[in-house]
Amino acid sequence: MDISNIPDTKRITVPGGYGKSILADRGQYIAVVDLEGGQCGDFWALDINDLNHFLSPMHSWIHTGTIQPQAGDELVTNRREPVLTIIADDVGWHDMLAPACDRQRYERYYGVTDHRNCCDNFREAMSGRDWGNRHIPQPFNLFMNTFVEPDGKMIIRNPISKPGDKIIFRAERDLVIIVSACPMDLNPVGGEGITDLKIILANSPEAILTDLT
Ligand SMILES: [Zn+2]
Repeated sequence: MDISNIPDTKRITVPGGYGKSILADRGQYIAVVDLEGGQCGDFWALDINDLNHFLSPMHSWIHTGTIQPQAGDELVTNRREPVLTIIADDVGWHDMLAPACDRQRYERYYGVTDHRNCCDNFREAMSGRDWGNRHIPQPFNLFMNTFVEPDGKMIIRNPISKPGDKIIFRAERDLVIIVSACPMDLNPVGGEGITDLKIILANSPEAILTDLT
């Protein structure tokens, strides 16, 4: 398939440590690609017609019965409405537990001021969309490698994603998607280094797969 003739196929590079947004219409497909592997991507999906209505990892694990949803699973919003369906997933292991990193995370736990962070990346990506000072929703942390031990301890290890690994969603409503290539370089969240992610928006999963070959 020659995707150069598909006008709605878009590609955005999310530079390591920064955030970007893209609009997706209902029925379109969104891929997030870990270009070099080992990079966490904080991911949000907000209803473009009501920014207080968004993908909720907590509601989604109740809906699916798992904190590790798989291809075919439907994710829901904070109002329990369908928002995204996972179409394909090369890694199959992400994080639905951690909040987005923010200035306080770096200051209080690591003594680092003015560190880039996913909350500021969200605000930058949403500038011009009247987000204001609203609370930033819980992200779906793509490629982040957390798990909970039997005694309840939460462990963070280096991501297991390999170069080119991706997850593909179908939009179940009209959305603004925000992806932050998490700048956390002080613990295993970011693996061996902070690197770029890529967002691909297309009208079919085949167009995304062709784009990557
Ligand atoms: Zn982060």
